[in-house]
Amino acid sequence: MYLNEFAELGIKLNNRTSGEVKTKCPECHATRKNKSDDSLSVNIEKGFYNCHNCGFGGSVIFKQKKEFIAPPKIELKIGDKLKDWLRAEVYLRLLWLIGNWRK
Ligand SMILES: [Zn+2]
Repeated sequence: MYLNEFAELGIKLNNRTSGEVKTKCPECHATRKNKSDDSLSVNIEKGFYNCHNCGFGGSVIFKQKKEFIAPPKIELKIGDKLKDWLRAEVYLRLLWLIGNWRK
C-alpha cells in the first residue's frame, strides 16, 4: 500500500485504500475547465498513476527507488601511472588472446 506516497504527490484517493480509483490530477486539475473530470487513474495496490489529460503519470515505487537507492556520485580519479598500467594490461591481454587464438 502506498497511501503516504500518493498523498505526498498531492494525489487524493477519496478515502479509498485499495483497487483502482479515478481522482483529480494534481498537475493539471487547477487549469482544467471541466472541474468535475477525474482524469487521474490510480492503482493503489500497484502504486501506478496516470492522467489521461496531461500525461502526468508514473509509479510511486519507481520514485522511491530513484530517491533512496540511487548511489552517490563517485568521482573517479585515475593517476597517469595507473592509466599507463591499464593500457599495458589491456595490450598484454590482447596479445595473449591473439596468441591463444592462433593455437
Ligand atoms: Zn493531469
